Amino acid sequence: MSSVLNIKDLQVKIDQKQILQGISLTVKPGEVHAIMGPNGSGKSTLAYTLTGHPAYKVTQGEVKLDKNDLLVMSPDERAQAGLFLAFQHPTEIPGVKVQNFLRQAYRARFEGQKTKQFGSVLAFRKHLEKLAQELQINPELLKRGLNEGFSGGEKKRLEILQMAVLEPKFAILDEIDSGLDIDAIKAVATGIKRNIKKYNTGVLLITHYQRILDYIKPNFVHVIVEGKVVESGDKNLVKKLEADGYQKWS
Ligand code: ADP
Ligand code: MG
Repeated sequence: MSSVLNIKDLQVKIDQKQILQGISLTVKPGEVHAIMGPNGSGKSTLAYTLTGHPAYKVTQGEVKLDKNDLLVMSPDERAQAGLFLAFQHPTEIPGVKVQNFLRQAYRARFEGQKTKQFGSVLAFRKHLEKLAQELQINPELLKRGLNEGFSGGEKKRLEILQMAVLEPKFAILDEIDSGLDIDAIKAVATGIKRNIKKYNTGVLLITHYQRILDYIKPNFVHVIVEGKVVESGDKNLVKKLEADGYQKWS
């Protein structure tokens, strides 16, 4: 059911610029790995590379989700394998209703899997409303265009709703806590924890702040500077970073 993500010596270029310089990480089911590091160090590049964004060229290394070579899979195949990315900057698609978008995403995720029944549009909406309620998301948002006129907090909550709908085996959450007020961080953290508990999801949690890690206890914390993991530790490392910043590596 749940999956292990294995990243070995991952090197990535954008245009001609080397961004990731050999990242190695193993995330087991149910584990939370926090990724921290200064702006521009390659955290989002790692997230986009894992989901198969075509701008990011892997020049060396290997990424496996269980026994599957992720790097030869298309972005759709990766999503079907249970990989999920919550974007740092969620995109707006005016005119595409949230509830329709999520139904499409759900179908795409579970297409061809016999254990899933898609049911009627109405049944899916009921399911969606229940999840929205659990995550304290205003149900009115489900009828609006995707992220159209959403506040920063609403966008991030919607990413978590999407996560709940897609039941990922592995989730990459890129600054899901940035720009959120304290209550929203709590709600988002609760949603993430529920997902981990329900599906034993492995999580890469990219963040700048300690606060979300008070709610979601990371098993490991990694610091990325200039495309490399320069230090790994447990949650005590977060306190050290809060106090000292990243100067020691610059
Ligand atoms: P982080 O998420 O850690 O702040 P990013 O992974 O977004 O950092 O960026 C790492 C570096 O790669 C930065 O120097 C950034 O300017 C560059 N970069 C990221 N995406 C692109 C892109 N699409 N085109 C050109 N350069 C990019
Ligand atoms: Mg980023």
